[in-house]
Amino acid sequence: MTGDSGVARDGTHKANYQPGYELRAKYTVLAEGCRGHLGRRLEARFKLRSGCDPQHYGIGFKEIWRVDAAQHRPGEIVHTLGWPLDDATDGGGFVYHAADARVYLGLIVSLSYRNPHLDPFAEFQRWKQHPAIRDLLVGAERLSYGARAVNKGGLQSLPRLTFPGGLLVGCDAGLLNPAKIKGSHAALKSGMLAAETILAALAKQGAAADATVVRDRIKAAAKANAKKPLSVPVGSNFYKRLTDFYLKDYLGKPLIDRFHNGAQPIDQFVFKDRDGSYYIVYGGWRHCNIAKLNADFTGFVPFGDGSTFKEITPAGYVEGAFMLLKDDKYYFMWSEGGWTGPNYAVAYAVGTSPFGPFERVGKILQQDSTVATGAGHHSVLHSPASDKWYIVYHRRPLGETDRNHRVVSIDELRFDARGFIQPVVITKNGVLADPLKR
Ligand SMILES: Cc1cc2nc3c(=O)[nH]c(=O)nc-3n(C[C@H](O)[C@H](O)[C@H](O)COP(=O)(O)OP(=O)(O)OC[C@H]3O[C@@H](n4cnc5c(N)ncnc54)[C@H](O)[C@@H]3O)c2cc1C
Repeated sequence: MTGDSGVARDGTHKANYQPGYELRAKYTVLAEGCRGHLGRRLEARFKLRSGCDPQHYGIGFKEIWRVDAAQHRPGEIVHTLGWPLDDATDGGGFVYHAADARVYLGLIVSLSYRNPHLDPFAEFQRWKQHPAIRDLLVGAERLSYGARAVNKGGLQSLPRLTFPGGLLVGCDAGLLNPAKIKGSHAALKSGMLAAETILAALAKQGAAADATVVRDRIKAAAKANAKKPLSVPVGSNFYKRLTDFYLKDYLGKPLIDRFHNGAQPIDQFVFKDRDGSYYIVYGGWRHCNIAKLNADFTGFVPFGDGSTFKEITPAGYVEGAFMLLKDDKYYFMWSEGGWTGPNYAVAYAVGTSPFGPFERVGKILQQDSTVATGAGHHSVLHSPASDKWYIVYHRRPLGETDRNHRVVSIDELRFDARGFIQPVVITKNGVLADPLKR
């Protein structure tokens, strides 16, 4: 039973009155969007969330503007992270240049913010004052606007999607891909898969007589599926088909699925050598291996001595391998210390080949008690336009005690005249824009 809607406080019926209804159906597809009232109750009733991560939420604002033709670059997509949000608040913005001089823009703020005075709508207004956004809106006209919650836990927060008599789809299930802010196509696709799954289940149960509306389609589906096993009971492969759609696994199995030379199979980095060969450098638990990748990265090319994984662990290595080639020198970098504590750090060594031997030179990145703690697990970028090097890494904001709460940061990486890497100065401001195209 659903409740009546459009009832005034005094019990009289307003113009939009709709009586509640009793839902009698073999299968019900729930598509209420983020944190739906019924979906939430069904999750609790059928324990659909047991075995998955908790869901987490954000609030998203979106506006549609008609902008000056000179500012309009159809097809351009800009995603932003960080500013104006503080270090303890995650979220980001988007600007999509659509057709007809329309621009869709907005900001999503994670609802785990700690500052009780933070006003997500005011942050959105601040975000629009950024020079890159403000210029776009000068002389423009806002056509419409709205706000809505988003469930952004992603794949690991997906509950079981089926229960006796029904399925959850779209954002009721939590299918938004938060990294891409894409939920519409996943919502549509999940609806289509739900329909196919139910159709197949009804066909198998010979329920055509009950479902006269879809009878012909059931017959057609049953015929088409005659040679294939049907998916009954409902949901037996709904989740798998959805996750296949969501996350296509190139190999269908891990590239490296066990320890070799004591190296935990994590933290991989793919390094391209000067002869065009690609190597995977990886490993946790204080061991690091290198292996040569084949042309399509589906496996390995054994070395001349028949081995596939060679250990290149330098002194002090813990995890987070990274390699780069500069001026004929192989710079090998890694993280050391424990990632949960304040002393996590990045150190490096220099060698004459990707196989080493690598002699530890020293630490290049570590905490600064005035900026952040636990700075480590990095990557390095080089701008061919400016010839500048940047280190991207994670660190823990000052005062943060949650070991999982780290923020991604970027600072400049400098080499001295002799080719040594200078200790990185970690900053609160990061780096200036360095356009690749000039
Ligand atoms: C600011 C912002 C920007 C976004 N940008 C993008 C983007 O660029 N690309 C993209 O793909 N996705 C984007 N998304 C996500 C996208 O909007 C959603 O993933 C998508 O709308 C989910 O569709 P849905 O049908 O599952 O839910 P919804 O679109 O939320 O629809 C659910 C509907 O069910 C109604 N309803 C709820 N409860 C009941 C009930 N009990 N009975 C009857 N009706 C009910 C609701 O009123 C609503 O109309 C964005 C989201 C936000 C907030």
